[in-house]
Amino acid sequence: IKKPGQTISKGHKNYDLMLNLQLGIRYSVGKHASILRELKPGDFDPKEKFWTRFPAEGSKLTPPHQSIEFRWKDYCPVVFRYVVLAFARHLRELFQVDPADYMLAICGNDALRELSSPGKSGSFFYLTQDDRFIIKTVKKSEVKVLLRMLPSYYQHVNRYENSLVTKFYGVHCVKPIGGQKTRFIVMGNLFCSEYRIHRRFDLKGSSHGRSTNKPEEEIDETTTLKDLDLNFVFRLQRNRFDELMKQIDRDCEFLEAEGIMDYSLLVGLHFRDDNRGDKMGLSPFLLRTGKEDSYQNEKFMRGCRFLEAELQDMDRILAGQKPLIRLGANMPARAVRMARRSDFDQYTRGGAGHFSYSGEVYEVVLYFGIIDILQDYDISKKLEHAYKSLQADPTSISAVDPKHYSKRFREFIGRIFIEDR
Ligand code: ATP
Ligand code: CA
Ligand code: CA
Repeated sequence: IKKPGQTISKGHKNYDLMLNLQLGIRYSVGKHASILRELKPGDFDPKEKFWTRFPAEGSKLTPPHQSIEFRWKDYCPVVFRYVVLAFARHLRELFQVDPADYMLAICGNDALRELSSPGKSGSFFYLTQDDRFIIKTVKKSEVKVLLRMLPSYYQHVNRYENSLVTKFYGVHCVKPIGGQKTRFIVMGNLFCSEYRIHRRFDLKGSSHGRSTNKPEEEIDETTTLKDLDLNFVFRLQRNRFDELMKQIDRDCEFLEAEGIMDYSLLVGLHFRDDNRGDKMGLSPFLLRTGKEDSYQNEKFMRGCRFLEAELQDMDRILAGQKPLIRLGANMPARAVRMARRSDFDQYTRGGAGHFSYSGEVYEVVLYFGIIDILQDYDISKKLEHAYKSLQADPTSISAVDPKHYSKRFREFIGRIFIEDR
């Protein structure tokens, strides 16, 4: 399997940043690993942050290193220690995020890999060699949002072990002497799996500009596809469906209460028949339908194609672990159907009954979670809303206020997942 991203080795422009980050995390984890006391309200104070100097020659607290002197900042380290413990408790048994593992994954001899900036925001993404963690550089405003929501985030992830919101493991900042600050978060990689993820979708529930714009032959497993590229729905066993919808509701209520918008449901698909996933390429999934391509559109109308999808144990998916494969009577019922791209509006607004089944079936395993949850409806997003409203239907653009965002998002998810009857 080809691993995504480029390994950061000596000479890479972010090599020093990576070294600093690894030294910093090693220091932080070591420092806080033995904390046993209760969490106090003061630990959540956004002012609870600590600078540590890392001189090149080393100090009493820090090892010598090969880059220039830098400073390292930990935000609310005690809380994150507890957040990590909470995840570990939920995930029970085998899949704990042990501080030693965490440290090894990020700071071990293996270098990190840099993903070719997948988002528009200009953030950089680094993946640990073991695929378990993603490090994302963030804006100051995003750190602010995270620190502001930290008490309720902590409560939320403690209360709902199946919460789909991003798992954050830490927030830090690196500042080389005379250089710029780089702020970043460490989070769980949703697609850490022994299974190959054949297709990935980043779904917001909005339609304006929500397609990849890549020619079909350039689309592969590393391409992030979007709302308009999705032309099927996932059929789930009833109790799975209920469980999922309930959790999405709770997660969205939480995000709405925190004034967050612009988040996505990130979905990864593994085709159970691996060869099938390769051979069939994109066509059944990405029919370029619409006015500009009536031939494709007609082809579509002659019959929907299906995928049969399996929703795996939620907490394993969330842990990014290999899902259990259960075949037999209690295997969740699954199917994925297609919707026409031009049907997007009805699709998102509940045009029930206009899908029809056909016989083609693919079995897939799903991985998913809610990502990019640190954007509030700030002045830039309000301006974006005003500006884009001039060109497009205001309800179709991504930038809307948190209340509408959440409503639209939930409705969309209610359409792409359907319950088995
Ligand atoms: P923008 O604000 O332009 O949407 P961004 O820079 O804030 O982008 P994200 O939306 O957080 O970036 O992530 C961009 C892409 O990176 C996602 O679509 C997804 O493919 C990948 N990604 C982000 N977070 C995760 C995660 N936790 N696990 C796996 N993949 C992730
Ligand atoms: Ca995003
Ligand atoms: Ca973002």
